[in-house]
Amino acid sequence: MRSETTTLHADLAIIGTGLSGMSAALFAVNRGLSTVLIGSGSPMNFASGLMDLMGVWPSSKEWDDPWAGIARVRKEIPGHPYATISDDSINQAFTELIAFLKVQGLDYRRSARRNVNIITSLGTIKKSYLVPATMWNGMLAFENQSPSLIVDFSGMKLFSACQIASTLSEQWPGLSSVRLEFPNTSHLEEVYPEHLARALDVPENRKRLADLLRPHLKTHAYVGFPAVLGTSAPGETVSELEALLERPVFEIPTPPVSVPGIRLHQALIRGFEKHERLHFVPDMAKKVTSLSGKGFSVTAGNDGRRCHVRSQGVLLCTGRFLGRGLIAERAGIREALLGLPVTQPESRQMWHHSTLFHPKGHPVNRAGILVDPLFRPLMQSSAPYAEQLHAAGSILAHSDWTRMKCGSGVAVATAHAAVTAFDQGM
Ligand SMILES: Cc1cc2nc3c(=O)[nH]c(=O)nc-3n(C[C@H](O)[C@H](O)[C@H](O)COP(=O)(O)OP(=O)(O)OC[C@H]3O[C@@H](n4cnc5c(N)ncnc54)[C@H](O)[C@@H]3O)c2cc1C
Repeated sequence: MRSETTTLHADLAIIGTGLSGMSAALFAVNRGLSTVLIGSGSPMNFASGLMDLMGVWPSSKEWDDPWAGIARVRKEIPGHPYATISDDSINQAFTELIAFLKVQGLDYRRSARRNVNIITSLGTIKKSYLVPATMWNGMLAFENQSPSLIVDFSGMKLFSACQIASTLSEQWPGLSSVRLEFPNTSHLEEVYPEHLARALDVPENRKRLADLLRPHLKTHAYVGFPAVLGTSAPGETVSELEALLERPVFEIPTPPVSVPGIRLHQALIRGFEKHERLHFVPDMAKKVTSLSGKGFSVTAGNDGRRCHVRSQGVLLCTGRFLGRGLIAERAGIREALLGLPVTQPESRQMWHHSTLFHPKGHPVNRAGILVDPLFRPLMQSSAPYAEQLHAAGSILAHSDWTRMKCGSGVAVATAHAAVTAFDQGM
């Protein structure tokens, strides 16, 4: 087998292609930094596409105003990643991301100071901050209690319009449901969101779907669909369905694999594709070496295809257990690439409470890397590991994002803060 080795030089090497790594790449190129982004695959394809900023803290206190929630977190969890980032910086990070996605044809919407109420596939209401524009009408329909019809499709798993309508019946009496056979799928036992989304990229299929649905429409002011309304240009699919059905439509997030998550990932990839300051290395980083004050050497790939990156700084965005930035072992939790110290419960027995839904959450979900205000990982001595090694995203300690509903907010805001710190330190 022939082996191929390349060497790249950059200001910043970003490791990890989840939301934190990809938004960091955007912030870096926007600041004129030559950037290498290293990683293969992305958990973003499984994510709902919603971007939460701060939803719940403490215990079951739900925040309508995410900024008030963040202010409380800053006071009560001094090590939380939000503790050293100002509201203005968080806001700027999102503004930059929204503008970039818009150019790629993916519209996101938010309300200045309020979380948005989003209907889930379980028929519950979830608070989020920044939502795909295709879901916005769902929030309006819910808040105005408008008579609405939720649609699902035969053979689609884990999404039941009937369940949504019956779970929400007390809060939203004018909600009803219908199950349709998606055009051209009568021969299939199961249908999958990505396939339906791709089918709806074809205008003829949108017309067929509207024809099937029209007889079920009565006084409904809105129509809600599972989030399958097209792949790369969902706004176009939504507009056309709205014209065909003569009323506003909206999407409801589905469980993974999620089309809005795939859209988000693809929009970022599209935007980076021809960017002159960004080089993408589609492999896992295997080794990071600090060259004693002269930057870093990162090796990615395997024997068949190897890439050496020489960079002034490194930004670690390798995620938690799912991304394998953190590894859970019998002896404890370790950071996978550099062996950085991981803040964690004293023993494995203390990782979880005995009740699954313990109001304080499980201590293992707060484990992670401690950083200084410049987002540089700290050693046991509390000194930074290296001047220009930074970390961002879910690998950071003290943010139990699934529980606090702050996953994407932490990913985007810390990526912005870390890139800004690196840029200013250059
Ligand atoms: C199923 C699911 C649903 C979600 N729903 C929501 C939601 O509703 N709202 C919300 O706000 N957030 C949601 N999120 C979470 C949000 O996406 C997280 O904030 C995000 O996953 C954290 O991003 P991250 O980039 O820090 O880490 P990750 O997403 O874990 O990404 C880390 C990346 O680093 C890569 N990596 C690890 N080691 C290496 C290496 N050595 N070399 C190269 N690459 C490496 C991994 O392969 C991975 O691609 C969801 C996530 C998932 C998975």
